[in-house]
Amino acid sequence: MTWDAEQKMQFLFHLRQKGVTDSRTLGAMEKVDRGLFVKGHFEDRAYDDMPLPISSGQTISQPSVVGMMTQALKVEPRDKVLEVGTGSGYQAAILSHLARRVYTVDRHRRLTRDSEKLFHSMGLNNITVITGDGSFGLPEQAPFDRIIVTAAAEDPPGPLLAQLKEGGIMVLPVGQSDAVQSLIKVTKTAQGLHYDELCPVRFVPLIEGMAQD
Ligand code: SAH
Repeated sequence: MTWDAEQKMQFLFHLRQKGVTDSRTLGAMEKVDRGLFVKGHFEDRAYDDMPLPISSGQTISQPSVVGMMTQALKVEPRDKVLEVGTGSGYQAAILSHLARRVYTVDRHRRLTRDSEKLFHSMGLNNITVITGDGSFGLPEQAPFDRIIVTAAAEDPPGPLLAQLKEGGIMVLPVGQSDAVQSLIKVTKTAQGLHYDELCPVRFVPLIEGMAQD
């Protein structure tokens, strides 16, 4: 499914109403049709502001939450960004319009394979997709200017904090997976780590190890 001008306008209007006001974030979200990332049963809900099921029992995040996270990440055009939790690939596609390079990792091979195909068909050539346990980050590509985690851990994973550049920003949900979690922004400065709590969110859990599919 692809969106028409009316659906796109409504989608962007709703994002603004929900507090996504940063023009670069809105510009990137305008370029990425969420309908391409939602298949089957839920296709006709692609432009609703709700998380939706994707394959491997995972979910594509709610658009307003994707917008808030992208906005909080303050990606600069020269940035190298790591995303943990590729899922459908929607968040990575948005980041690809804002950053120099995006590395995205998922523990489900099926999800990384499908999103890699999609990025290719969309002509998004600055995204590298990796299958693996992203809680250890990507030491061979570190350090990163920005890190975004789209699955909830109880605490920010140590390896990810270590792979964040000084001056870098990491945005992630933290908390118990079956309860309400908090979206956290971590800024790394010469003096140490600075934490801001942004809003309550609900994400699938960050799970250790590779998945079966
Ligand atoms: N950002 C996605 C939504 C992610 S859903 C989108 O835009 O559609 C969360 C994803 O995190 C799931 O696909 C899940 O497989 C993945 N995940 C969970 N634990 C992980 C881990 N340790 N390493 C990598 N990916 C993980």
